[in-house]
Amino acid sequence: MSTREVVTRFAPSPTGHLHIGGVRTALFCWAWAKKNQGRFLLRVEDTDQARSSESSTRGILKDLAWLGIDWDEGPELADDEGVVLGGDPRSVGPFFQAKRLEIYTQHLNELIEKDCAYPAFDTAEELAELRSAAEAKKETFRYHRAEDYDRDDAIARMNAGESCVVRLRAPAQEIVVNDCVLGEVRFGAGELDDFVIRKADGYPTYHFAVVVDDELMGVTHVLRGQEHLMNTPRHQALQKVLGFGTPSYAHMPLIFNADGSKMSKRDKDKAARKACKAAGLKDSPVACIDDAEFTRWMGDKRSQLASDQLSWLGREMGVELPEIDVEDFRASGYVPEALCNYVALLGWNPGMKCEDGTDLERFSMAFLAEHFSLERIGKSNAKFDRAKLLSFNAHTLQTMEAGAFVSCWKDYLSLYQPEMLTRFDDSQFELLASMTQPRCKTLRDALEPISFVIAGDDEIVFDDKAVRKVLLKGEPSGLSFLAEIEPVLRAVEPFQADEIEEAIKAFCEAREIGMGKVAQPLRVAMTGLGVSPPLGQTLEILGQQAVLSRIDRCAAAHAT
Ligand code: GLU
Repeated sequence: MSTREVVTRFAPSPTGHLHIGGVRTALFCWAWAKKNQGRFLLRVEDTDQARSSESSTRGILKDLAWLGIDWDEGPELADDEGVVLGGDPRSVGPFFQAKRLEIYTQHLNELIEKDCAYPAFDTAEELAELRSAAEAKKETFRYHRAEDYDRDDAIARMNAGESCVVRLRAPAQEIVVNDCVLGEVRFGAGELDDFVIRKADGYPTYHFAVVVDDELMGVTHVLRGQEHLMNTPRHQALQKVLGFGTPSYAHMPLIFNADGSKMSKRDKDKAARKACKAAGLKDSPVACIDDAEFTRWMGDKRSQLASDQLSWLGREMGVELPEIDVEDFRASGYVPEALCNYVALLGWNPGMKCEDGTDLERFSMAFLAEHFSLERIGKSNAKFDRAKLLSFNAHTLQTMEAGAFVSCWKDYLSLYQPEMLTRFDDSQFELLASMTQPRCKTLRDALEPISFVIAGDDEIVFDDKAVRKVLLKGEPSGLSFLAEIEPVLRAVEPFQADEIEEAIKAFCEAREIGMGKVAQPLRVAMTGLGVSPPLGQTLEILGQQAVLSRIDRCAAAHAT
């Protein structure tokens, strides 16, 4: 028996950023293709010309590449090294639907010829009338071709260039979707209406383009979110009249926030709007949103601001907006390994145990590619647990090889804090990384435990409690040890962690005191606090001059 090569596809509409739901779809499609040594295609569904943009397409491709979800065929993308992802080795492209209009027209004409589809000329007013007539009868509005429809006349009008849509004649029979996740889902006879397959602007609708493309691109498995389930009977109806096969469908569970709401690309708007409402704002608090736009946005729950406008608003209002798009997670310092690992658990799990008997949840992309299965996709809603994602991220960062940590931290800084890259050389970076990696939860926060390094010598703020406990108490006091250690540190050469620690140790032994007596006051002088990363490293990274100047400043500030 010959088995068909598995082909999956991720088919984003380039109308915005790639968000978590999209990442999960892409990841599962990728994993299923890999697991079966098949092919994973990427297709850009840009038939909504008004809402699609090239920059959105590029953003989506770059996000996927960053995540490590590489496609076998699809639009080309050059990465930093100039390597190209995508391309069309089997000539099933082009992979932009807007470039496939001729293909759609050909199939559409066939349907019109067979009278399976027909042009319709209703105006918006006429449709609204039909809709309210149905509402008045408490019926669901379903468009059907009028009994007295004159087909020859309609086709002549269409050919003469009159504006019209093309509709499919809905099948009268029941449609059964055999879903790999949900099982048999039945759509009763008469549930479908004569839906539009070509819009008045000449572009196919999503339903028509998706069906034609899946067939011509040889797609065997369609994995997508459950929000698309209601589209599937339409797709099967089209496949039937077009004489196409039906791919296997797997509809994945919806993703919910911790508060029980459905996770949505509008969640950032929701959080920002809530903050503005709470503050009683009438006008826009930021320059990048004018008052009219602000008022419109405040009044319309479904409206969205651009990503950068929301960031400004969040900053201005002092609220952290929830991360939704890949770009948000990247800016917050998440790494792709952790993000993909966590997202893979949204509606799936490997069903394996760790040695200690707990569920196996931490795994690599290679593991996912080897073990992913459709049978283990759950039916019930998935919950997006931000605390769990953060713990995955922390674990990934803290257990990385030191070199890998440095390079991904530098990548992060080059995008979000490029000034830091020129501030430190390679060996300083290694030292900083060794200080921060053990406690780092996100790359954005990596600078936090070492913020004293970036602060100017005269910007250190001394914590009162630490000053009292460490500098002023005792006889001799911490301050006096600080004065004594200064010349010792001045003489250390080279000024490196091991040498520094040796010198402090020798001093303490000679004075017959514990290391803490000197280490603690030094910590306060360097950082303002009683805690710091290991002392030798802390002093080395600051450099001899800064160390001496911070000791002087601390002594002067607390001299009695
Ligand atoms: N372009 C559709 C979307 O972005 C694809 C849906 C599908 O996978 O069929 O939701």
